[in-house]
Amino acid sequence: MTDFITRFAPSPTGPLHLGHAYSAILAHDMARAANGQFLLRIEDTDLQRSKPEWDALIRQDLTWLGLHWDGPVLRQSMQLTSYDTYLAQLAARDLLYPCSCSRADIRAALTAPQEGHPHEVYPGTCKQRLMSDRKPGDALRLHLDRALALLTDDFPRFVETGEAHKGTHQIDPSQAHTQIGDVVLSRKGEDIVAYFLASAIDDARQDITHVIRGEDLFDFTAIQVILLTLLNLPVPTYHHHRLIRDDHGKRLAKRDDARAIATYRAEGKTPADIRAMIGL
Ligand code: GLU
Repeated sequence: MTDFITRFAPSPTGPLHLGHAYSAILAHDMARAANGQFLLRIEDTDLQRSKPEWDALIRQDLTWLGLHWDGPVLRQSMQLTSYDTYLAQLAARDLLYPCSCSRADIRAALTAPQEGHPHEVYPGTCKQRLMSDRKPGDALRLHLDRALALLTDDFPRFVETGEAHKGTHQIDPSQAHTQIGDVVLSRKGEDIVAYFLASAIDDARQDITHVIRGEDLFDFTAIQVILLTLLNLPVPTYHHHRLIRDDHGKRLAKRDDARAIATYRAEGKTPADIRAMIGL
């Protein structure tokens, strides 16, 4: 078996833009250079925003860019029930609680906006609730204090090879509390696993040895490493790369249709032009 397996894991909620192309090309090239494998995973657990048309366009764009993935494509929506086993394992260890807060409730309960944090840390309104009290429509959250209490003997570590955070990182409980908090693992109103858990489980399921993705996801790595450790799944090596920004220094978003690969394709650009534009 090869000792380098990586993946590109887009959410099909919009077109691929230059930032995604950078991530996919980097992962593909690193896999080929290591004589390893490059896998494709479609992260379509957001059933409202994910569209088959975007999935199809993503695959066309990747093929046009000359990126050929190995093996079958894993589509998360095709295996939703498989995540329940893992949620059940966490529930059996008393690590989940039901939550009925809306986004507006959470915002109102926060004393100050979490400036500079990529997501809102949950203030803990429903923390005292028990699983036996779960109502239809409740989300499920990880009880971070209890999770960390199980790991105190030796907080998990992970290796990062990306420039900005290169080195071995050990989970820092206070940082986990202030940056991440009690994340949602199963979404409100839909019995559907959330990104943090699904993505980490599938990295293990696909035997991913190297997770290559944008810098913006670095802060979430700790929670994924905590979840993998609690579930007795292997922790991959992580490589968080620089983000492609627009002329104003803003990170590209799905809405930046002007930078969509499909737009460049239609304008007659070549895959080599795209590589040049993103400095690869
Ligand atoms: N699906 C996520 C996204 O499109 C990427 C997840 C990951 O690479 O871990 O932003």
